[in-house]
Amino acid sequence: MVSPKEILKQYEIKPRKKLGQSFLLDVNTIHKIAAAGGISSDDVVVEIGAGIGVLTKDIAQNARRVIAVEIDPRLVTALQQQLAGHDNVEIASGDILKFDFASIADQYKSKVKVIGNVPYNISSPVIFHLLSYRSVISDFTLMLQKEVVERLVAPPDNKSYGVPSVILQMFAVVEKIFDVPASCFYPRPKVESSIIRGIFRQKPLVELADEAFFSRLVKAAFAQRRKTLMNNLKKAAFLANVSEEKIKEALDKAQIDGKRRGETLSVKEFGQLSNILKQTFNLLPVIQL
Ligand code: SAH
Repeated sequence: MVSPKEILKQYEIKPRKKLGQSFLLDVNTIHKIAAAGGISSDDVVVEIGAGIGVLTKDIAQNARRVIAVEIDPRLVTALQQQLAGHDNVEIASGDILKFDFASIADQYKSKVKVIGNVPYNISSPVIFHLLSYRSVISDFTLMLQKEVVERLVAPPDNKSYGVPSVILQMFAVVEKIFDVPASCFYPRPKVESSIIRGIFRQKPLVELADEAFFSRLVKAAFAQRRKTLMNNLKKAAFLANVSEEKIKEALDKAQIDGKRRGETLSVKEFGQLSNILKQTFNLLPVIQL
């Protein structure tokens, strides 16, 4: 294998910070990420930010089809040359945040696996984009900033547990697989990286009456971390029409003590409370004559 550094030199590619370009140099790590994806010959894989294609080549050895998405036109040219001859690879030039996973799944009559060394500046939008296509994505194996991975996999009562943890874990089973030191990249990032692996659940952990409502509730519960759940909900704009009494009733029904802090609620409790509150919310107030 030609070393990634030589490939970059060959194309005289000066990494663009704005696009989160930090290329994997360590061949061993590249193999480990590809292996963590658990890719087999039936799999259709979408790679986020293929760069110069070092990971792409590795994935292509096992996959049925690889769609390598890359936004930087300089790298698209490099990819075309680097991947020439890999006839199960196609290059998609453009923004992953606009990528339509459903049409790929439809074209190949298969759910899609997602893999990639994700540009750190778009890690959160990428996660939400994947969530929005979860019905056609089976799983994902992503390199992200270490702190972001810790937030996404954190359990309740942990300082990293927050909005992204609850929302992602409602829909996916996630785990951190391993850390990747900054020395494995060029240019060397200022932050440490980790690999997260997630498998989308067939059904959410709790069948949700209204997903947008659930997200609003979770955000409200964490609005001020040190406040009690009740205090945060009382202040929540989206619950402005619901009286304190009704909120208390919903909490009782969900068997959740309003004096707890949001960060102590399990993902399941958030789901249950969301459904109960939503019912309350739907009931129009009755005026006594
Ligand atoms: N996979 C390569 C490159 C990782 S760096 C490797 O591991 O070496 C991140 C890559 O994502 C860069 O190539 C960058 O150009 C690309 N990228 C940045 N923003 C993107 C976006 N919105 N959509 C698709 N690719 C993007």
